[in-house]
Amino acid sequence: MQATHTTKRDIRKLKVEELKEFFVSHGDKAFRAQQVDEWLWKKSAKKFDQMTNLSVATRELLGQHFEINHIQVDTMQRSTDGTIKNAVTLHDGLIVESVLIPAEKRITACVSSQVGCSLACKFCATARLKRQRNLSADEIYDQVAAIKEQAEMFFNRPLTNIVFMGMGEPLLNYSNVIAAIEKITSQKGLGMAMKRITVSTVGIAKMITKMADDGVKFNLAVSLHSALDQTRSSIMPINDSNPLNELADALRYWYQKTKRKVTYEYVVWQGINDSMEHAQALLKFCKVIPSKVNLIEYNPIEDGEFKQANDAVLTMYMDLLERNGITTRIRKSRGKDIDAACGQLANKS
Ligand code: SAH
Repeated sequence: MQATHTTKRDIRKLKVEELKEFFVSHGDKAFRAQQVDEWLWKKSAKKFDQMTNLSVATRELLGQHFEINHIQVDTMQRSTDGTIKNAVTLHDGLIVESVLIPAEKRITACVSSQVGCSLACKFCATARLKRQRNLSADEIYDQVAAIKEQAEMFFNRPLTNIVFMGMGEPLLNYSNVIAAIEKITSQKGLGMAMKRITVSTVGIAKMITKMADDGVKFNLAVSLHSALDQTRSSIMPINDSNPLNELADALRYWYQKTKRKVTYEYVVWQGINDSMEHAQALLKFCKVIPSKVNLIEYNPIEDGEFKQANDAVLTMYMDLLERNGITTRIRKSRGKDIDAACGQLANKS
């Protein structure tokens, strides 16, 4: 009996070993698995028909048992600053967004890890879309592969960096994010360097501890936004169950195990965290483990109640932190005109 649509497996969920077994059990050669693996990952094949070094019969056999749940990059919006935003349609029709951010020395891919988000941060547009599901490892990988192609096609330059700062919370989809990163860095995938990858999180303490135990080699960024529990809880509900002292403990463990710094992402808003008391609390938190701070420009979201603090307040933060030896950068947002900037990804188009 021919396999029906619903019984077909996502071929990229199989390990090469399992593919080998599949071929052998169907009277074919084990080395076909390596050929197929190369097509699936390195060459980003979307259809079995593209696998031209396989016989037609082998391609048909694969088509009867498996599907390739490749993403489809649907609309591509380009910002006046060069930023490209992709609307990415998944095999089940759901949509996420990914962004290519060009800079003088680098091209960064900003990718999504979940459809929607469950965390309800008050200042983030993605929070308004309920979390629908986790992305699979191959859907995450595909976003990076697509942006790598765009970098080469539109900028004639290689993709240099990857940030998990699109839709969703990467540490709530940990195993798929890790599996995607393994492929992105593998010579059998995109061959990118671990040190060029940054995973950004709201700071889920038990997952940071787990990453430390797993000895991960990518960079960690924590969206802090306030180092005072009351304020942080009022804008990031996750802080109620995951308060700053637990986050600090997890970060100490992280540094002890990995010897890797952390970067804090921090937006300064009028009337929320724009006082010296808040800046001093941030400075204190920065001493928990070696760290850097990115002061991110706020990107207003629809009917949002938040307003970015003025330049004098940013300078106050900057001076205090720098004077105390904490490297601090003000990060201008990119792609604002097409809603591609941090916290603006909400499938509006
Ligand atoms: N869930 C992860 C990754 C997605 S958000 C995380 O929280 O880190 C990526 C970054 O954009 C985070 O630092 C987040 O706090 C920030 N962000 C969210 N909404 C924003 C907005 N409207 N303006 C500027 N930054 C925003």
